[in-house]
Amino acid sequence: MTLHPLPAFDDNYIWLLHEGARALVVDPGEPEVVLNWLVQHNVALDTILITHHHADHTGGVAALRQATGARVIGPAFESMPEPLDRVGGGESVTALGLRFEVIDVPGHTAGHIAFFAPDAPGGPLLFCGDTLFSAGCGRLFEGTAAQMHESLTRLAALPGGTRVCCAHEYTLSNIKFAQAVEPDNAALADYAARCMALRAGNLPTLPSSIALERQINPFLRTDEASVAQAARTQNPALADDPVAVLATLREWKNGFR
Ligand SMILES: [Zn+2]
Ligand SMILES: [Zn+2]
Repeated sequence: MTLHPLPAFDDNYIWLLHEGARALVVDPGEPEVVLNWLVQHNVALDTILITHHHADHTGGVAALRQATGARVIGPAFESMPEPLDRVGGGESVTALGLRFEVIDVPGHTAGHIAFFAPDAPGGPLLFCGDTLFSAGCGRLFEGTAAQMHESLTRLAALPGGTRVCCAHEYTLSNIKFAQAVEPDNAALADYAARCMALRAGNLPTLPSSIALERQINPFLRTDEASVAQAARTQNPALADDPVAVLATLREWKNGFR
């Protein structure tokens, strides 16, 4: 079983998991890059997983379903390209012989879900859409900071070796912000150097891992004194409350260049 991030648009990745003569894709915002890969490798598309309703994650679904007959699985409570199998937190689905647990992760959108495969060969796999990014998290378009905090807490509790497959290559700009929050974080400095080298070679910085994100992602570190202290530079009255710290970080990041 092999994992491929197919670049799409400016900074999206359409994750493709390949096993034998079949593959699944996650959040295909456009069909062409997927169809080209399938033809080149003589592989059939078995399943499409969707994490949330945004067009850069769903725009290719109808064309791919029509061209391949793939089964489509997506969130229970979001507007989706019908027909599809709708799933919610606590349910499991099987694709390519692999069991995926569905995790509710509202915040970026109201009904955002993630797919977690605990038994994937090569280590657990997480497809988390626009909820968790390397060194960052999604914008709060439809949910609250409390929801995002709970969603990120759920993801952070997954095994450290879990490969984190985010839907965008935002890592370098997220690192810049993370370093403004935690200038003395040595793991973050190491990671910044590694990621700059990867991007200089036009290589993906992803997948990340849960263990790494716990060390370097300020949005998973809202209960660290250093992170709360940094948030207080934006709001001196801020209490040591992880949700309030996350809300402050998210607003700070929205205006950060
Ligand atoms: Zn989105
Ligand atoms: Zn997106």
